[in-house]
Amino acid sequence: MSHELENKQPLWTGDYYNEGMNAGESIFDKLGEECGVFGVWGHGDAASLCYYGLHALQHRGQESAGICTNDNGTFHYYRGMGLVKEVFNNNNLKDLKGSNAIAHVRYSTAGESKLVNAQPLVFKYRGGDLAIATNGNIVNAKELRQQLESQGSIFQTSSDTEVLAHLIARSEHNDIVTAVKHALKQLVGAYAFLIQTQDTLIAALDPNALRPFAMGQLGDAYLFSSETCAFDTVGASYVRDVHAGEMIIFQQGHEMRIESYTEAKNKAVCAMEYVYFARPDSDIDTVNIHAARKRMGKLLAIEAFTDADVVTGVPDSSISAAIGYAEQTGIPYELGLIKNRYTGRTFIEPSQELREQGVKMKLSAVRKVVEGKRVVMIDDSIVRGTTSLRIVNLLREAGATEVHVRISSPPFQNPCFYGIDTPTRKDLIAATHTIEEIRKAINADSLYFLSKQGMLDGIGLGSNGEPNGGCCTACFDNHYPTPVGDEDEIKACC
Ligand code: SF4
Repeated sequence: MSHELENKQPLWTGDYYNEGMNAGESIFDKLGEECGVFGVWGHGDAASLCYYGLHALQHRGQESAGICTNDNGTFHYYRGMGLVKEVFNNNNLKDLKGSNAIAHVRYSTAGESKLVNAQPLVFKYRGGDLAIATNGNIVNAKELRQQLESQGSIFQTSSDTEVLAHLIARSEHNDIVTAVKHALKQLVGAYAFLIQTQDTLIAALDPNALRPFAMGQLGDAYLFSSETCAFDTVGASYVRDVHAGEMIIFQQGHEMRIESYTEAKNKAVCAMEYVYFARPDSDIDTVNIHAARKRMGKLLAIEAFTDADVVTGVPDSSISAAIGYAEQTGIPYELGLIKNRYTGRTFIEPSQELREQGVKMKLSAVRKVVEGKRVVMIDDSIVRGTTSLRIVNLLREAGATEVHVRISSPPFQNPCFYGIDTPTRKDLIAATHTIEEIRKAINADSLYFLSKQGMLDGIGLGSNGEPNGGCCTACFDNHYPTPVGDEDEIKACC
């Protein structure tokens, strides 16, 4: 080998695109999604509505899915591991009779992915049957669990949700609505709950409105969903968001009631829902996700313009911001990166020979688009930095002459205690590196993160004087809207 070649630094620092991954791991070093809940009150085929609703919420959790129907006081339920389409079929759906139902898709961290934790969780208590589905995380679950165990409670699952069931069951109040209120008051954290008994369905949201939760209507039936995109899927119309500290109650023989179980605190809707988690066709607090991302892209262009030939977005969550960046700068938006949607959740590790050829299972660069071009690559966030490095190198391999990375949110520096599966602080690259060090680590020609104000202006919630425009921004600024525990105690959601 000549001396010249020996000294040449390869641009591509890994052997192949999946380097360092174990079979079954997600290739995208992204934050773990949360969970999704869906509920129906008063529709002849509640289970089918839940099935389609869960399909629309599948991006929020792929570990397990479940539906619990209420057929005039008799519960039927089915839960399974895997995607909604893998768990449910015509046979098990037809057994789920009833006009009321609650349903769930779950994301969980490794080790907790067990059927016993799949939701809705169903219990028998002194008032009859009780089913609960939730999205979020109870920050004080561990203390509450210890207290309950010391009083004799025996837990069946490792899920936070069971804490609520025990609090309801042990309540001194026989009336379910009062018992739920009493139980919710003891919780700290972020949660959107659907609680079903033999004659009642309650939707409840945490006092800061951290998690998204909306109500819809289909004919005379009422629906609840983590995201409004599920209403469109089943042909329902949006009615309103569930508000902070609120319970919406449906009870056999009664009109719908809306009650506060506690004083609403400062609104703190999860900013990352707008940046990354939610589907672009959903609205949270009446703000459309695609429109918010596009505004963030435009503001990013104003804050960090760079002359380039094409703008591209990392699919799928960064495409809206890339369109905004392109519109603002006049640089053409192009599909420079393509995601292969059919790789599934597990794949066989490529042989060494295929590794050397550079197997790109999930993402490819479009050579004809980027070859010889200066590329602005928009991404929504950088977590560990490994994904960004892979994607920058993909673009370089395909012939991009420069890769300028623009991130449509501020540096992600702090873990989430509210149901988003984040690495610990020491694994968050922005918590341990300067921007320049990150730029080098991801092999970019330049790197810029959108400012916090830019992100909040892009979201544009129009707050009533709440801090951070009504958003939670704790993972960016370390200002948590509730008391939080020890970082080591963070549990996965649900
Ligand atoms: S800490 Fe970040 S991810 Fe967690 S709720 Fe707040 S904004 Fe969302």
